[in-house]
Amino acid sequence: MFKTHRCGELRAEHAGQRVTLAGWVHRRRDHGGVIFIDLRDRWGIAQVVINPANVTPEQFRLGESLRSEFVVQIRGAVQLRPEGMRNPRMATGDIEVMADALEILNPAKTPPFLIDSDARDVDENLRLKYRYLDLRRERMQKNLTLRHRFCKFIRDYLDARGFLEIETPILFKTTPEGARDYLVPSRIYPGTFYALPQSPQQLKQLLQVAGVERYFQIARCFRDEDQRADRQPEFTQLDMEMSFVDRDDVLDLVEGLMTEFVEQHVGKKLLFKPFRRLSYAEVIAKYGNDKPDLRFGLELFDVTAPTRDSAFNVFAGAPMVKGLAAPGCGNYTRKQIDELTEFARKEGAKGLVTLVHDETGIRNQGAGAKLSDAEKSAILAAAGSQPGDLLMLVADTPKVVNEVMSALRLEMGRRLKLADPGVLAFAWIVDFPLFEWNEEEQRWDPSHHMFTAPKDEFIPLLETDPGKVLSKQYDLVCNGYEVGGGSIRIHRRDIQEIIMRLIGLEMEDARRKFGHLLEAFEYGAPPHGGIAPGIDRLTMLFCDEPNIREVIAFPKNQQAMDVMAGAPSPVYDKQLKELRIRIVE
Ligand code: ASP
Repeated sequence: MFKTHRCGELRAEHAGQRVTLAGWVHRRRDHGGVIFIDLRDRWGIAQVVINPANVTPEQFRLGESLRSEFVVQIRGAVQLRPEGMRNPRMATGDIEVMADALEILNPAKTPPFLIDSDARDVDENLRLKYRYLDLRRERMQKNLTLRHRFCKFIRDYLDARGFLEIETPILFKTTPEGARDYLVPSRIYPGTFYALPQSPQQLKQLLQVAGVERYFQIARCFRDEDQRADRQPEFTQLDMEMSFVDRDDVLDLVEGLMTEFVEQHVGKKLLFKPFRRLSYAEVIAKYGNDKPDLRFGLELFDVTAPTRDSAFNVFAGAPMVKGLAAPGCGNYTRKQIDELTEFARKEGAKGLVTLVHDETGIRNQGAGAKLSDAEKSAILAAAGSQPGDLLMLVADTPKVVNEVMSALRLEMGRRLKLADPGVLAFAWIVDFPLFEWNEEEQRWDPSHHMFTAPKDEFIPLLETDPGKVLSKQYDLVCNGYEVGGGSIRIHRRDIQEIIMRLIGLEMEDARRKFGHLLEAFEYGAPPHGGIAPGIDRLTMLFCDEPNIREVIAFPKNQQAMDVMAGAPSPVYDKQLKELRIRIVE
């Protein structure tokens, strides 16, 4: 072994012991003829002293030649630092290692950025190009460690509850998650393609038909979508499926897992214990979207009805009018209001109506001057505001109103610092509609995916009023992110066929794509359901990071490129020929 101890583990009780350490030079300082090295390994930093009194002149010169990120091995004795020199902010701050031998295992070029500072100020593409250096930083090592802890915890937790971890293929067939597939051409069967799984959805259902009953996998999923802070072309889910369960069995199990992990390993407070459960209809009404940040209130209010016949033409006849009351913002300046109006426009609103709630009620100015007393009191009652508040309202179609108001709610939450960063607000969203109307294609699309079961009491409505049907879908949300989704599945072929017809999937087409699954359902499929919490997003929230790239060892950048290896990249003509592929300019 190159080392007897880890740099970060040395404490006062090691004083007097001889140790061998190996790691990277974090910093070197020369002080009055003595060299101080901060030696770093994954477990932390230890101070090493190279004193000409203890080493040969040759070794001392070697010490002088050390630069940041050189890989070195050092032998010496641990000693207590002299009184007054101890560093209480450092875990190893009570001791230092008096070197008597030193070897450079490998020198290093000057890194393109400092390893010993926080990464946030360095250009991200530079960080990603030299990811192996970026990952040496303390913050990134912490992220890798917590991610590992999470995966290990998941495995132990589920193993203890009878789950089997089963791998499913990466070279597979199209999966119905609604994104674009990544395709892999087959050399052996020219002109045909594998699809990388958008999720193991079908396979985990087939594993239920196979009698596994409790399956999980820390599964890589591939979706060719536009990139966002919380998306990557490939990402990792905790994919799960269980037989003979109902919705609440799945929710309780996952809730237990999250709660125990957060309490034992994350050091953040759970705002809701048990997790809140909210219906889709309720969250759309109160927060304008189905992944609300519940760390703060700032609920939306709806005044569509009382302003329908308003003399104020922005409100009159609008399909929907909703607003929120920003506490204590009644004295916002023109400039601040203009900023918010601009914000609302960028989100898709035609404009933003602002009203000031003062001692007299809604102030008689601007839009306030155009509203009747009855409208004003209806607005105040709906808003539940206080004198000193600023009311912001948008009138438009429900889609626009909800999108703009939910963005505005988050923006006000940020401005007013309402969301406690030390808190995780987990909640379940349930009772989703089974379908969404697709205006372009003039057909129903599944809100989740086509295997999601309708709630039993809505089955009769499937063929008469599909828009009203609620499903057995559930989403797990946390701090404004969807961190998992799943459903109880359809296990009856007759219902599956109705759904496929409604979403415009011809039987022929369905058989070609999912025939194996439909056939399997005829051989005794148990009732089953599952979920897939996102490991990247959850780890991002646990680690307080602003995007999932910070918790993935080798992520793609926001243009879906691996800038370290340079992927995607052109391939040799020979390879294309073998695949019988011609590039069309
Ligand atoms: N396959 C679904 C997804 O990836 C999760 C599930 O329904 O279990 O979102």
